[in-house]
Amino acid sequence: GELDVALAERVKKRNATFGPASVLFYEEPIEAIRAEGAYMIDAKGRRYLDTYNNVPSVGHCHPHVAEAVARQSALLTTNTRYLVRVVEDYSERLLATFPARLSNIVFTCTGSEANDIAMRIARNATGKQGFVVTEAAYHGNTALVTEISPDVSRDRKPAPFVRTIPAPSLSQAPGGDVATSFTTALKAAIADLEGEGYGCAAFIADSIFSSDGIHADPAGFLKPAVEAVHAAGGLYIADEVQPGMGRTGGGLWGFMRHEIEPDIVTMGKPLGNGFPMAACVTRPALLGAFCADTNYFNTFGGNPVAAAAGMAALDVIENEGLIENARLTGGAFTDALRNLMPRHPRIGEVRGAGLFFGVDIVDPETGAADQPTTRKVINRMKEAGVLLGSAGRDANTLKVRPPLTFTEAQSAFFVEALDGVLQRI
Ligand code: PMP
Repeated sequence: GELDVALAERVKKRNATFGPASVLFYEEPIEAIRAEGAYMIDAKGRRYLDTYNNVPSVGHCHPHVAEAVARQSALLTTNTRYLVRVVEDYSERLLATFPARLSNIVFTCTGSEANDIAMRIARNATGKQGFVVTEAAYHGNTALVTEISPDVSRDRKPAPFVRTIPAPSLSQAPGGDVATSFTTALKAAIADLEGEGYGCAAFIADSIFSSDGIHADPAGFLKPAVEAVHAAGGLYIADEVQPGMGRTGGGLWGFMRHEIEPDIVTMGKPLGNGFPMAACVTRPALLGAFCADTNYFNTFGGNPVAAAAGMAALDVIENEGLIENARLTGGAFTDALRNLMPRHPRIGEVRGAGLFFGVDIVDPETGAADQPTTRKVINRMKEAGVLLGSAGRDANTLKVRPPLTFTEAQSAFFVEALDGVLQRI
């Protein structure tokens, strides 16, 4: 149609403007106009159920957050060198959600920056240089953090100071003992780093292993891994950018499902429900040593508008019982997805916690990862009015991450759409 020609023209122009850094979802991209709750609305007025976007995780354009941002931006927005009440209140409230020893916070604007600082704190504190991550991890885009993000540098050799280990897959672990196989791999990686003279400054993991394909179970499997890194004099950095803010349904932070205490926690994406903000939380001794060496400062990190947004997002999680909803609605949604498996041998596995799922798409005969079909499913789900993404080393895992306000009716709509799409493939 005519609009589609115009759209194609704009895509061409966008590609010319941004070059290869232009990333657009879908064979036919969506022109997003507005959004509300779990829905995004395009230029033709079509509503899509958004089960991918975990930035507005308490719902798109939540009125309470939008109002807080508008009010604060009309009152005061400035660099971060002043005493501002909302910043003090928010810091105190956010820190109260962590184990008591994690009592210092550095605000940043992106998750990448938070991880960059975390890596520098770890090196500074341990005197070691190396890092261990999972094989399809993504932790961000600064020069340093790109080195520990094999998901975007898969064809490159990892930096000499980085070791990667396989994702903690429950179904592939010998005897189903994922804690032991994961810890064994981690110990070998640490020994290798020590042998090369780097040592292990930190093991950094997103506790639900988002870009590795979502690996959540059994809760607690990270405990021996964290003990191993501590025994080797390294730190554990919990990257909560994806599992954080209630998504896993087991507390506000994903690491809580594993009953571990990280040395450093980084968070971002959903923190301000769309307002760009992130943070790094750690123990005073670790931050103190780092700051003494660097004079670290961040112009926008923890500005008054960000603090107002973050405060409002926490209000919504509490007021609307969203952690509980993630657990309950998420549990029922997992069951419904698993119920599709007998009729659809293309579904290899369904994994997840709370409202975060990975659904493997495989060849029904061989069980091998099927990336082309995964892509097809994602594009056809969009035609059916549902947005979702992909993850995993082989990019064959449907990544499903709806807002924490997700309802039973919305999960039924999703399951029916996936059922239809898989039938027609
Ligand atoms: N860590 C994880 C686990 C992420 O998923 C991301 C972003 N996808 C980041 C860090 C980086 O965050 P940002 O894009 O805000 O820099």
